[in-house]
Amino acid sequence: MASESDDDVRNPLRVAVIGAGFGGIAAAVRLQQAGISTFTVFERSDDLGGVWNENTYPGVEVDNFAHWYSYSFRTYDWSRTHPGQQELKQYLNDTVDKFGVREHFRFGYGVTRIEWDEDAQSYWVHLSDGSTEQFEFVISAVGLFNRPRIPEWPGLDRFQGIKFHSARWEHQHDLSGKRIAVVGTGSTGVQIVNALAPVVGHLTVFQREPGWLFSKGEHVFTKEERRRLSRGLGYRWQRFKYFYREQTKGWGGKNLQPGTSQNAKAQAACERYIAKVFKDRPDLAKAVTPDYPYGGKRQVLATGFYESLLLDHVTLVPHAVERVTETGIVDAEGVTHEVDVLVMATGFEAADYLNSLEVIGRSGTSLREVWNGEPEAFLGISVPDFPNFAILYGPNTNQGNVIFGLETSVNYVVRNLKRMKRTGATSIDVRRSYFAIYNRWLQRRLAKSALATAKNYHKSESGRLVLPFPTNMGWYWVFCRLLRRWAAVDRRVEPTVVAIEKPAEGGVARSSPANRHLGSGGPDVIARFAEDNE
Ligand SMILES: Cc1cc2nc3c(=O)[nH]c(=O)nc-3n(C[C@H](O)[C@H](O)[C@H](O)COP(=O)(O)OP(=O)(O)OC[C@H]3O[C@@H](n4cnc5c(N)ncnc54)[C@H](O)[C@@H]3O)c2cc1C
Repeated sequence: MASESDDDVRNPLRVAVIGAGFGGIAAAVRLQQAGISTFTVFERSDDLGGVWNENTYPGVEVDNFAHWYSYSFRTYDWSRTHPGQQELKQYLNDTVDKFGVREHFRFGYGVTRIEWDEDAQSYWVHLSDGSTEQFEFVISAVGLFNRPRIPEWPGLDRFQGIKFHSARWEHQHDLSGKRIAVVGTGSTGVQIVNALAPVVGHLTVFQREPGWLFSKGEHVFTKEERRRLSRGLGYRWQRFKYFYREQTKGWGGKNLQPGTSQNAKAQAACERYIAKVFKDRPDLAKAVTPDYPYGGKRQVLATGFYESLLLDHVTLVPHAVERVTETGIVDAEGVTHEVDVLVMATGFEAADYLNSLEVIGRSGTSLREVWNGEPEAFLGISVPDFPNFAILYGPNTNQGNVIFGLETSVNYVVRNLKRMKRTGATSIDVRRSYFAIYNRWLQRRLAKSALATAKNYHKSESGRLVLPFPTNMGWYWVFCRLLRRWAAVDRRVEPTVVAIEKPAEGGVARSSPANRHLGSGGPDVIARFAEDNE
């Protein structure tokens, strides 16, 4: 909560964090550890967890190994190699309590708009209940995968059966014995198919385009493994092992560049897996083999999906959905499939960054206008003319284990905040030159990536790759450590005195745009600290 000391009210460094998923929680812990306790985490839903709060579909679990898909500052006694939604949410709840930051969270508060006030050197943060609060710094942790993509199939609204998106699972329905359609065979679709196949009457799986698929070797840890791996050196070693594996052989390396031996090797391993499972079903083998290079879409990691397709009551339809009737689905070949339940595992509007709020910067322009459908940022974090605003999991930071990227960005932001406290800088912006050069480099590298060769959710409408980082995230860490100080433009502006109400019990200091011009003058001192004296 905001400190109530006079000093803080006169000269505060209040931080608003938007979103309480892995990113927002990492920010809360690191801010607290850095001695910045004047922060509030606004979360529009009524609980924490982000995607691990919203995605409760059968079979939901993470694709990375638990010891790697977790915070560097929090070990845990994981029950599985790849934990499910409930365990991940429990981990986040335990983390919030262990680090004593729960009181900073305000649930049920969506941030609708933030607006930079140059005079006050702070943002006006507009909330979904109509109130407005003032913060010197805003960290967006709104994530990518929380606006479900609802397809525009003709007839969808006339469908008489049960229908829902995978991220809005309707648990009240008993699916046993029913005819179910799962549309989509990405990471989510395959998990749902595996979980439903044993219980439903008939399963029809619609696949517009196959993905390259690996078995991920998931299993429940034995008692002995849990004893060995839940803390200390055992935990650290496990974490390092998967970090190393990812940087060298996994996501984001040369294996995602067509024409390299690593790429060919990865593709050959997937082809061997297909050949092994479908040795007696060449029709299915053909249907699940992509016609684009390995890495053209996010790799699908699942054990048992191919085997599920071999079951008598499971039908793979290797075509897109054309339209929906009152009782079924018509595929692109014109064949109708009668179903009782339609599950849309159709993904998210991921490339539409920061779609849940409006961000207004120094020039009075909104970030959406500046981006014009092509989101870009320096290291995914900062955009020129939007001072004191940081994005976690921002443009072009999606690669490998996302938690590592989130923590790296959080550390970058918290270091900047510490510098502001130390030097008295009232704003930090990013140099336009660094922003431009970095994004040119990104796009040049990404042009060589397999993702450029296929249709996928990593692209903006114009086809520009706006989600992925072009190489492994170890390099992202290096860039964040090396470039932060050089890329920053610090300013010290004597903020206009604004009327700030004393904070209510348990709340932050309140003010409103209506009284923001009380007091005198605009900026009266502008100092640039190009040289950081950290
Ligand atoms: C089903 C699924 C499986 C995944 N599996 C993996 C995996 O295996 N490996 C991996 O690395 N990544 C995976 N991801 C990606 C995942 O998004 C990240 O790993 C990570 O959880 C992102 O955390 P976040 O805090 O950035 O965002 P989120 O978890 O999306 O949290 C954002 C939060 O912000 C809130 N919010 C949004 N807008 C506002 C607003 N305007 N005001 C207030 N609150 C707001 C949302 O309600 C949400 O709680 C998966 C994603 C999904 C959906």
